Amino acid sequence: MIILVVNAGSSSLKYQLIDMKDESVIAKGNCDRIGIGGHLSHKTASGVQFEEDCPFPTHAEAFERLVKVLTTGEGAVISSMNEISAVGHRVVQGAEVFTKTMLVTDEVIEKIDELRELAPVHNHGHALALWACRKILPDVPQVAVFDTAFHQTIPQKAFMYGFPYEDYAQYHVRKYGFHGTSHRFVTAKLAEVMGKDLKDLKVVSCHLGNGSSITAVQNGCSVDTTMGFTPLDGVLMGTRCGAVDPSAVTYVAGKHGFNVAEMDSYMNKQSGLLGISGKSSDFRDITAASESGDARATLAKDMLVYDIKKDIGAYAAVMNGLDAVIFTGGIGENAPNCREEVCTGMEYLGIQIDRQANDFKGQLRKISTPDSKVEVWVIPTNEELLIARDTLAMIQK
Ligand code: ADP
Repeated sequence: MIILVVNAGSSSLKYQLIDMKDESVIAKGNCDRIGIGGHLSHKTASGVQFEEDCPFPTHAEAFERLVKVLTTGEGAVISSMNEISAVGHRVVQGAEVFTKTMLVTDEVIEKIDELRELAPVHNHGHALALWACRKILPDVPQVAVFDTAFHQTIPQKAFMYGFPYEDYAQYHVRKYGFHGTSHRFVTAKLAEVMGKDLKDLKVVSCHLGNGSSITAVQNGCSVDTTMGFTPLDGVLMGTRCGAVDPSAVTYVAGKHGFNVAEMDSYMNKQSGLLGISGKSSDFRDITAASESGDARATLAKDMLVYDIKKDIGAYAAVMNGLDAVIFTGGIGENAPNCREEVCTGMEYLGIQIDRQANDFKGQLRKISTPDSKVEVWVIPTNEELLIARDTLAMIQK
């Protein structure tokens, strides 16, 4: 059984074709510059790889090209789209409307599009890709998997903000949380490698990438997470400031004379590791600069480490205990220095890291000492695979 996984943004459409027999990726690529030109990059498991410019006025042309590239020419991996059993779509914002994976109907797409007010950069792109896919492959079932769905188990006392209640009721202003598919994937994998039932575990999952979020998972359910109404809240990120005093926002906007859009860009694109270091948003550059004595790069790194440490402690308090910590995402999987600094000085909580075991990149591995009360694991995430698994489960129902 072959599943196509689509991750569409406002101007891009990333895809993976997955053979569910062995969960292997047959082909993957990206149609980007939709609406402003058009560019396709495509790669197959057999080693064919190419890029080409092609006009993508809308998501529909990108999707048509994708169908062609998968079925004809040197990049072809299937003889016809009939070989695809279903299409699984990543959707960023499901709000309180979508609390689980959904089979896509016209009504579901309309609702996803309506939610774009809560995720302006993402949801409209998802809806455009969903319509295009429905038009071009009308007989193939489509499934939507929501980043926010995993966090719908967060209790109200944790997801509310201290604004007047009416703005929650009328404008749906609350914490939603993101990266749910990643947190769900790595916590399920953790239970598997620990040989335990996830329902018996208290876990803090740290997804650290350009965007980062920390999630408390108890009984297999998200009980709190650091990202909020948007993916701006929480720990310091590549270019995002993370949590700040809201009054600092109005104060800075006044000082610079920023309007709402300019302030939004300042917080989302000019802050974080980039804003603090003045050098780069990339953790590799920050580490290299810090090692060569750059004080502001060191400060940026230290701020990130401090935020993560503080959230692990907070979530241990929320869950009244801690059995395991997971590191995932580009930084979590590949930056031993970040993991070591986070876990150092956490003996009180029962965390003891094995420095030698921690000295590696990009694999699934336990990095705590054998006598550490809390197990610490690096678990590479795979959101596309979880979307494919959800999609398969949905069509087999
Ligand atoms: P996104 O949130 O965009 O999906 P990723 O999960 O790919 O991002 O994470 C990107 C981050 O991972 C960047 O800060 C990058 O520097 C960091 N990263 C990737 N590889 C390494 C590495 N080998 N060592 C340290 N950091 C790394």
